Amino acid sequence: MNRVYNFNAGPSPLPLEVLEEIRDEMTNFKGTGMGIIEMSHRSKEFQSVIEETKSLLFDLMKLTPDHEIVFIQGGGTMQFLMESYNFLHTRAAYADTGVWAHKARDSAAFFGEAYDANSAKDRNYSYIPEDCLIKPETDYLHITTNNTIYGTEYWKFPEVDIPIICDMSSDILSRRIDFNRFDMIWAGIQKNLGAAGMALVILKKDFAKTARTDIPPFLQYKTFIEKDSAYNTPPVFCIYTLNKMLHWIIKQGGLDIIEKRNKEKAKLIYDIIDKSNGFYKGHAVKKDRSRMNITFNLSSADEEKDFIEKAKENRFIGVNGHRLVGGCRISLYNAVTIDACKAVAQFMEAYRKDHQ
Ligand SMILES: *Cc1c(COP(=O)(O)O)cnc(C)c1O
Repeated sequence: MNRVYNFNAGPSPLPLEVLEEIRDEMTNFKGTGMGIIEMSHRSKEFQSVIEETKSLLFDLMKLTPDHEIVFIQGGGTMQFLMESYNFLHTRAAYADTGVWAHKARDSAAFFGEAYDANSAKDRNYSYIPEDCLIKPETDYLHITTNNTIYGTEYWKFPEVDIPIICDMSSDILSRRIDFNRFDMIWAGIQKNLGAAGMALVILKKDFAKTARTDIPPFLQYKTFIEKDSAYNTPPVFCIYTLNKMLHWIIKQGGLDIIEKRNKEKAKLIYDIIDKSNGFYKGHAVKKDRSRMNITFNLSSADEEKDFIEKAKENRFIGVNGHRLVGGCRISLYNAVTIDACKAVAQFMEAYRKDHQ
C-alpha cells in the first residue's frame, strides 16, 4: 500500500475500506449492471440511497421527527448565500470566529443587515467569544461550530432566544451533541463525511416555514424539501459517499465511539505541543481547542517551512496552515486513524529533538 499519512484540511481522507467499497461497486451497483453515477436519479435504487441516507442521519444524530434533511449542490459557500437569502428578513447576527464567519456574514449583507454579535479578532481568533450581543428583530445567530482555519471549536453553545444556524462543515458527526437544539445545521461534506460538492442541510420544520418564498425556487429550501432533494439532478456521487460514510460510522460503533477516538487522537498531538517547552506553540487557547484542526506555530516562518518539508519527506501530507494564516495545521477528521496520529506525534517529537 502506497497511501500517505493524510492530514489535509479538506477535502480530506476517507477510510480505506470505504474507498475500496466504492471502487468495487463503481461498475455494478447492487447487481444493476450500472455504477451509481450512471443511473437515473429517479430510479428506485437511487431513491432508496437518498431515503436510507436520511434515515441513517436521523438515527445517528438522534434527530426528532420535526426535522427535514436535504442535500444541496454547491458546498458550504452556497449555504452562506442560501441561509441568508431564505432567512434574513431584517437583520442577522454572526459570531465572529474567523474567516468562515466573515464569508457567511459578507454573503448575508446582500440581503439585509449582517452584524457581528461578538468577535475574537482582538486575539487573532485564538478563542471562542462567549457573550453575544443580539439586536432587536434579529432573525438568527450564525455560528461556526469548528473553525477549520484557526483551530477553535465550540464546547459550550450560545444561549440566545433566537434561532441558531450552525455551520458544522468541519466537525459534523465528530462528536455527540444535542443536534435538536439548533434550528438549522449544515455542513459541506468533504471534511468529515465524503466527497466535495454538496452540503448536508438539516432544518427544523417550523423554522423552514419562516423562509422567504419570493425568491428564485432553486434557491429556496422549500423546493429541496418538497422535491426530496431531487428538484433537478442531485449530486448523486456525493450522496452516495455520504451514505457509505454513515455506514462506516455505525460500523465503528456509532458517534460515541467516534468521539472517544477523536478525543484520543487530538490528545496525542496536543500533548506533544504542550510538552515541547514552547518549541511548538499552539494557536488556540486550551479551553477552546479544536479536536479536528490542530493549529500551531514554530519559532519562524522558515522553521515552519522546513518542518512542513521534512514532514512531507516522511509521507505526512497536509500539515501546512491555511494560506491566509500560515503556520502549521494537522487535521484529524473521523477517517484519520489513531496510528496516523501516533506516527505524526512521533515525527514531531523527533523533529523537536533535532532542532530545539
Ligand atoms: C471548508 C469550510 C467551508 C466552505 O466549504 P466549501 O464547500 O469549500 O464552500 C465553510 N465553513 C467551514 C467551517 C469550512 O471548514
